[in-house]
Amino acid sequence: MESIIEILKEHDIAPSMQRVKILEYLRNYKTHPTADIIYQALVDEMPTLSKTTVYNTLKTLTDKGILLALSLFENEERYEYNTNPHIHFKCTECGKIYDISKTFECLKNEEIEGHKVLEHHINLKGICKSCRDS
Ligand SMILES: [Zn+2]
Ligand SMILES: [Zn+2]
Repeated sequence: MESIIEILKEHDIAPSMQRVKILEYLRNYKTHPTADIIYQALVDEMPTLSKTTVYNTLKTLTDKGILLALSLFENEERYEYNTNPHIHFKCTECGKIYDISKTFECLKNEEIEGHKVLEHHINLKGICKSCRDS
């Protein structure tokens, strides 16, 4: 797996400690965390970390296409390491967002009824399998 520092350098981003840790967190945890969750998870390890730094870093990484910002289900912005387009499923009981691996035809750069598609998101809502089992 490519190192975090290499990924940052490839995108012309100086690999500061905070940036490395934030990107590492998002690559390890595919839970679509909010900036707040990322801050809470890292502040113990990096007491000098501020929420502003987390927000700024997420913005930089999103602008460079390393992260995807998801503001799809509610006002709250969530982030994930940029992978191939996939379907999101949100549980209305526990609030978890799952990645669904089912593939679908990518509509990127296609034209639909005269509109040009730049991004393509599919979002499903329902009750997740662990909530159904309990
Ligand atoms: Zn659930
Ligand atoms: Zn996802």
